[in-house]
Amino acid sequence: MNRVLVSEPAVVEPQQQRVNLLGLPADKLADFFASIGEKRFRVNQVLKWIHQRGVTDFALMTDLSKALRDKLATVAEVRAPELVEEHHSADGTRKWLVRTDGGECVEAVFIPEKDRGTLCVSSQIGCSLDCSFCATGKQGFNRNLSAAEIIGQVWTAVNSFGGFEPGVERVVSNVVMMGMGEPLMNFDNVVDAMALMMEDCAYGLSKRRVTLSTAGVVPALERLGDVTDVSLAISLHAPNNALRNELVPINRKYPLESLIAASRRYLDKLPDTHRKVTVEYTLIDQVNDRPEHARELAALLKALPCKINLIPFNPFPNSGYKRVSNNALNRFRDILFQAGHTVTVRTTRGDDIAAACGQLAGSFNDKTRRKARHQQRYGREVEQPVRLVGLQG
Ligand code: SAH
Repeated sequence: MNRVLVSEPAVVEPQQQRVNLLGLPADKLADFFASIGEKRFRVNQVLKWIHQRGVTDFALMTDLSKALRDKLATVAEVRAPELVEEHHSADGTRKWLVRTDGGECVEAVFIPEKDRGTLCVSSQIGCSLDCSFCATGKQGFNRNLSAAEIIGQVWTAVNSFGGFEPGVERVVSNVVMMGMGEPLMNFDNVVDAMALMMEDCAYGLSKRRVTLSTAGVVPALERLGDVTDVSLAISLHAPNNALRNELVPINRKYPLESLIAASRRYLDKLPDTHRKVTVEYTLIDQVNDRPEHARELAALLKALPCKINLIPFNPFPNSGYKRVSNNALNRFRDILFQAGHTVTVRTTRGDDIAAACGQLAGSFNDKTRRKARHQQRYGREVEQPVRLVGLQG
C-alpha cells in the first residue's frame, strides 16, 4: 500500500464570485461565453484545456488571445476539488480523497480490470435514502455535490494518470455513479457532469461506458431518458415489495413494479437497440439469498432486458448483516442462469487501501441526525472504512 498525504486541511475560503468553468457542459459554457460577448468556438478550446490537458490557469491556454485570457482570469476560474490524499493499492486500485467547497471530503475509486478501468464517483455528501445495508446511508446526509465537484473527481483521477491524448486508449475508460449518494436526487448536477464525461472535447466516453446507478427514484428516472442516454443500473436487492421495503425504504414510495416499468421505458427511449439495464443485487446472508428469492427474481425480471450483477454484501461494523456464503451465492447465480438470465458476480478489490465503493469517505456533518441516532443505538464504530466492492462483468 502506498499512502500519500497531499495536503494539510486548508482554511475554507469564503465562496468566490467568479464562475467555475470546471462543471459547465458545452451548452452552459456556450451561454457563459455569450454572456461575456465571446464566440461559441471558444467552448471547444476551453473544454480541451481543462479536461484533456488538465490546465486550470487561463494564462497557459495559449490558443486564446491575451485579452481573452486576462478577461477570463477576472470573471471565471477553473477550480478542482482540493486533493487531500491519494492511495495506490497493490492490485492497481487507486483512491482519491478530495475536499469540496464546504470543507467536507468525498472519495473516488479507480478499479483496473483486464479490458477496462472503471472510476466510481460520488454524487452527494452522504445519502438521504438510508438503505439498511449501506454504510453511507448510516452516516446520514449533508448536501448535493455541484457539477464541478462531481466532474472534479474524474478530472482528479485522469490527471493522476497524466491526463490523456484524444484518440489514444485511456486508463479511465468507464465511469459509474456508484460512490456516495443517490444520483437521481441530484438530477441536474449529475446530468451536467455526465454530459462532460461523454463530451468529445472533454473526456469523450461513450454513453455505454457511463453508468448511473439508482435505488429507484422513479419520477426522476422517468425524466432521465429525455436528457441523457447513459447506461442505467438499478439497485434492486429484493425480489418482492415486502422485503425491498425493509432493505431499500424508498420502495415504500415507488414499489418494484413502478421501478421496473420506468427502467423499461428508459430503455425504450434510447435511440439504439440491444441496451440492457444492469440489475444490482447485494446478497446478504439469510436475508435475500435463498433459492426462492432467486426464482422470484428470475420471474420478476423475465420481460426486462437486463444483466444481473450479484454483489456479496460488504460488511461494516454494526450493520447487523453478514456476507452471503459462497454456497448460497453459487446456488443463487445458478438458478438465475438456468432461468436464462445473464449473471455476473462482483469481486472484492483494493482491500489494502480500504476503498469501499458506495461506502466511502469518513465523517461529515450529518444534517439528518441519522448518524447520531445510529451511534446511540450501536456505538461509534460505523465510521470505520470497509472493503472495496470491485466491478466485474
Ligand atoms: N444510490 C445509488 C448509488 C450508490 S450505491 C444506488 O443505490 O444505486 C451503489 C451500489 O453499492 C448499490 O447498488 C449497492 O449494491 C452497493 N452497496 C451499498 N452498500 C453495500 C454493501 N454494504 N455491500 C455491498 N454492496 C453495497
